[in-house]
Amino acid sequence: SHAKRRQLVVGNWKMNGNQQSNAELLAKVVAGWQGEHNAEVVVCPPNPYLLPTFEKISGSPIFLGAQNLSQYDSGAYTGEVSAKMLGELHCKFVIIGHNERRRLQGETDAQVAQKFIAAQRENLIPILCVGESSAQRENGQHLEVIGAQLQAVFDQVGLDVFKNAVVAYEPVWAVGTGKTATPQQAEEVHRFIRTRLGDLAEEVRILYGGSVKASNAEQLFAIPDIDGALLGGASLDAEEFLKICKAA
Ligand code: PGA
Repeated sequence: SHAKRRQLVVGNWKMNGNQQSNAELLAKVVAGWQGEHNAEVVVCPPNPYLLPTFEKISGSPIFLGAQNLSQYDSGAYTGEVSAKMLGELHCKFVIIGHNERRRLQGETDAQVAQKFIAAQRENLIPILCVGESSAQRENGQHLEVIGAQLQAVFDQVGLDVFKNAVVAYEPVWAVGTGKTATPQQAEEVHRFIRTRLGDLAEEVRILYGGSVKASNAEQLFAIPDIDGALLGGASLDAEEFLKICKAA
C-alpha cells in the first residue's frame, strides 16, 4: 500500500529565519535535493519570504507551501492573506489547522473547514492537521478528538475532495517538545484516520508530525500507514532536513 502513495516531507519553518539565514538554509537544501527521489519535498516559510524562497527553489524538485491562509477571498480582513494571493506567489500546498493556530489563535473546527474550502477553490493542496492534547490522550480520548476534527471538515466538504488533500497527525504533546509518539501510538492513529477516509483510504497521504528527527524518522517511515512527515524544528537545519527527506 505504501508504494501507491508518494512519500511527502513538509518543512514548517513557523515564525523563524531571516533573509540571510533562509538563503543559507535553502542553498544547502537545494544543493542536497536535486534529481530523482522517492519523496516529494515542500518548504513552508513565513509569508514575507514566500517569493524569495520560490526564487531559490525554482528549478529544483522542491515545492512551496504556506503555513496558513484566510478563509475569505478578499476584503476588509486586516492582516489576512487569501488563497489566491498564495497561489500567485507559487504556493502549491498550505498547512491548515496547525495546533499552534488552533490553540494560540483560537481557530475552530468550523474555521478550519472554511479554510480547507478556500484552499481547494484555488487549487492549493490543504495539509489538514489534527491531533490530541496530552490531557486528551491521558483520558483515552485521542481517537474521539481526532475523529471530531476530521468530521468537522468532512461535514463541510465531503470525502471526495480528499483526493487532493493531505492529512497530518500531530499529537499536540509531541510538537516542539522532543517527545515523539511511539510507533505504536502513531500507527493506531494513522490507521484510524485512514479508516475514516472511506473509499479514498488507500489514496490519501497521512503525515506524522511532532519532534521528528533524523534519528527517529526511519522507524516512523517504516510504518505502512505513515506517508511522510510534517517537520518543525528539523526543517531549520539543512543537514537534518535532508536526512529525513532521504529516509522517506
Ligand atoms: P516539531 O514541529 O517538528 O518542531 O515538533 C512539528 C510541527 O509543528 O509541524
